[in-house]
Amino acid sequence: MIKAVVGANWGDEGKGKITDMLGETADIIVRFQGGANAGHTIVNNYGKFALHTLPSGVFYNHTTSVIGNGVALNIPVLFKEIQSIVDKGVPMPKIKVSDRAQMVMSYHILFDQYEEERLAGKSFGSTKSGIAPFYSDKYAKIGFQVSELFDEERLKEKVENICEKKNVMLEHLYHKPLLKVEDIMEELRTYREMVEPYVCDVSLYLWNALKEGKEILLEGQLGSLKDPDHGIYPMVTSSSTLAAYGAIGAGVPPYEIKQIITVCKAYSSAVGAGAFVSEIFGEEADELRRRGGDGGEFGATTGRPRRMGWFDVVASKYGCRIQGTTDVAFTVLDVLGYLEEIPVCIGYEIDGEVTTEFPVTAKLEKAKPVLEVLPGWNCDIRGIRTYEDLPENCRKYIEFVEEKLGFPITMVSNGPGREDIIYRNK
Ligand code: GDP
Repeated sequence: MIKAVVGANWGDEGKGKITDMLGETADIIVRFQGGANAGHTIVNNYGKFALHTLPSGVFYNHTTSVIGNGVALNIPVLFKEIQSIVDKGVPMPKIKVSDRAQMVMSYHILFDQYEEERLAGKSFGSTKSGIAPFYSDKYAKIGFQVSELFDEERLKEKVENICEKKNVMLEHLYHKPLLKVEDIMEELRTYREMVEPYVCDVSLYLWNALKEGKEILLEGQLGSLKDPDHGIYPMVTSSSTLAAYGAIGAGVPPYEIKQIITVCKAYSSAVGAGAFVSEIFGEEADELRRRGGDGGEFGATTGRPRRMGWFDVVASKYGCRIQGTTDVAFTVLDVLGYLEEIPVCIGYEIDGEVTTEFPVTAKLEKAKPVLEVLPGWNCDIRGIRTYEDLPENCRKYIEFVEEKLGFPITMVSNGPGREDIIYRNK
């Protein structure tokens, strides 16, 4: 059977921790979309890690880590990451890379930087990891699949064609140095050498694993609101962040995804540009940012300070619905322990009308938050292991959110560690 762990919001909900925790019973953990543009922070007995490309299951001996075809595969980053975990004493993970995964090329990263420079103040807040140029090329059918690395002649013809196209933009739009065919060929040869031992027909491997009764975990990156179709377009990422896409980005039957665990953070944070209705500013935001996550809310990839806000029922209810949520994992609740009172955004006021349904981007930009203030619990809840032992106001906060979301909160995370979890039977 397959379980998916995905985000309800803008990313950074704590999916890495939940995946790492659920990895205990999984056989295979698969990344199915995105690239090295976002990261997961994981704290376990080996230390603290920021992973960008590897699935969060690499710390277990019993799991196989898979990079699915839907991923934007940055081979040098993947290898640096493997090295960095092995250097910290983690046993060499079992890794498989889909022969249908496409590779992020050095020029994708350059194009990302050049475009951000060109847009200057109007940029999308890209992490400049090459993700948007990569996916553009994938769908324009000029990307490179791992499987193509093994036929030099065909590769050369394709590289020549790509250089011709790219160089027009480099010369006339960006005024930057041109690409050379031989450099790109060399880059591809290096990638071939690095990736060859891991290449796998992943959809077949997963099909067989399912037949053998293995448990597969799909690990999403970012969250619902960054989905290119259902998110806050155009301030979105370039690959689908939804559990449904797991079927495509891993190559598994959709009907095998039995459990969709949507991770929802107890307050909001976002990186990059775009409407963020429940956003807070100034000292109030600084304090939440400082106390947030595990050591502050700063991007795992970029170190950028995250934008902060109160829990947003409208965005999260939508985020859960569009994921097809079976379970909500409500995370980072411990962080709110310092507050006397906790505002929650329960509606959006748009042109004088209040709605609880998440609108399209043009309307979203006009939305003002409708807040309801709940009493805080004013103590540290880390270390608590049963739901009943949580302070009453804390349970009330959880139950209030659950009722508004309309999806069951079956896990409550009250600390960054694997054991910091409270299961609720629903
Ligand atoms: P992801 O991209 O969804 O995996 O999220 P990140 O890894 O960027 O952000 C989650 C951050 O919160 C990490 O630093 C985690 O170690 C931390 N974290 C996860 N769950 C909890 C929790 O319940 N409490 C606290 N305090 N930190 C948590």
